[in-house]
Amino acid sequence: MKGAKTYEQLQEQLDEYILSHNMRPSKVRNMVLKAACQLQQPFTADELAEKCAEERISVGTVYNVLNLLILAQILHAIQRQRGKAATTYELVRESDANMIVVCPKCGRESEFTEPSIIRLVHERRYSNFVAKYFTLVVYGECRVCRRKKRPNDRAIYLENNEDDSNT
Ligand SMILES: [Zn+2]
Repeated sequence: MKGAKTYEQLQEQLDEYILSHNMRPSKVRNMVLKAACQLQQPFTADELAEKCAEERISVGTVYNVLNLLILAQILHAIQRQRGKAATTYELVRESDANMIVVCPKCGRESEFTEPSIIRLVHERRYSNFVAKYFTLVVYGECRVCRRKKRPNDRAIYLENNEDDSNT
C-alpha cells in the first residue's frame, strides 16, 4: 500500500495518544492494532473481530479499540458502498490524501491523485480545525458493471425491431 506506515510507527502513535489522554497502556490494544496491520486493507469490523478471536479478544473489546484507533488517527472509516454494513476501515497513510473511485454495485475501486484537490483542501481555512489528512471517495459505475447492462439494452432493441417487422 502506497505510503503505509510501519507497525512500529503506528504503535508509537498509539502510545503517544494513550499517554496524552492519561490512559493506561494495555497489551490488548497493541494486539488489536497488530491484527489491523496484518489484515488486507481495507477491512470490516467483523474481519478484525474474527482475526482478534484467534487471540481470544472479545468482539466488544475489538469495537472499543477500533474507536480508539480512529480517535488516535491511526485508522479511518470509509463508507464504501451505500446501504448495508458497508463501513470499512483502513490504516491512515503517510501521505495526507487518499482519493479513490468506487463502484458501489460491485465494490471495485481504484486510487487516483489530483494535486489541485489536495491544494484546495489544504489551503482552505476551517474554523477551529487544522486540516491534517483527508479521504475523497468518488462513487461511479465501473466498466464491468456498465458492460453488464448492455446485453439487456440490446435485447430490448431487438424486441422492438421484431415488432416493427411484424407490422
Ligand atoms: Zn462495478
